[in-house]
Amino acid sequence: MTSEFNPDPILNGQVDRSFVKDEYTPLGKEVYVKAADMMSDKGYKEAYFADVIRAKMKRDKKRFWAGDNISDYLHDSDKEKLIDEATEAFELVLDRLLIDRENDPNSQGTARRLAKMYFNEIMAGRYEPAPDATAFPNDTQDRYEGMLVVRSELRSMCSHHHQPVSGVAYIGIIAAEKLIGLSKYTRIAQWCARRGTLQEELCNDIAREISKATGSKNVGVYIQATHGCCENRGIMAHSSLTQTTVLTGAFKEDPNTKKEFMDNIKLQQEFAPR
Ligand SMILES: [Zn+2]
Repeated sequence: MTSEFNPDPILNGQVDRSFVKDEYTPLGKEVYVKAADMMSDKGYKEAYFADVIRAKMKRDKKRFWAGDNISDYLHDSDKEKLIDEATEAFELVLDRLLIDRENDPNSQGTARRLAKMYFNEIMAGRYEPAPDATAFPNDTQDRYEGMLVVRSELRSMCSHHHQPVSGVAYIGIIAAEKLIGLSKYTRIAQWCARRGTLQEELCNDIAREISKATGSKNVGVYIQATHGCCENRGIMAHSSLTQTTVLTGAFKEDPNTKKEFMDNIKLQQEFAPR
């Protein structure tokens, strides 16, 4: 049976078959089973595609928490299959909530709307690869050596309650030997935010990804955001404004750099108050 296994082009492109063979047994039947064996007597596949992907990630010890990007495990066309499966699951949730999705015109199609919204919008940053941020050299004599602060509007969702998180990130860097386009800071920040997150983690994720894209070890990220899970439920707070700051390199070690960053944020807020 193992010899009939076709290595997945994404996962096993570099891996020889003997390695795969060793991996075969612990995974059990559902992952590498032949298509014919997957047909139940009803004539459709018993295994969910999402289960197959989950098994692959478990095999690789790949973390797939709500805030993790799993795009390496998906082909473009896989999303449609996953949306179909999630639709089925959301239908079940509506049924369990005793909502008449057959006769209530506003609930017809809600399951599919939810599935599409999760994959294509509110959690899109889990399933899409990092935005392409072409770097331009900044290594001539008159290179820019100053601080750069970019204001990025964010929409996210808390992992605990799947309630909206909405706010602004201020991203500061000291330019290193390459620069990325200004819009890329926001694209990267939004890619990090479009997942299930905690604001503290989101702040870290943005700092790490900006550092990766720019090659700068000197990065500061300040986020202020309101949280639906504190406003719409629980303590029902009118304002749940939460502030988080992550500082690396000079932002952390040099008080003047930190002050310049914070002063820049204040100037930004005067320009575009929030
Ligand atoms: Zn929450």
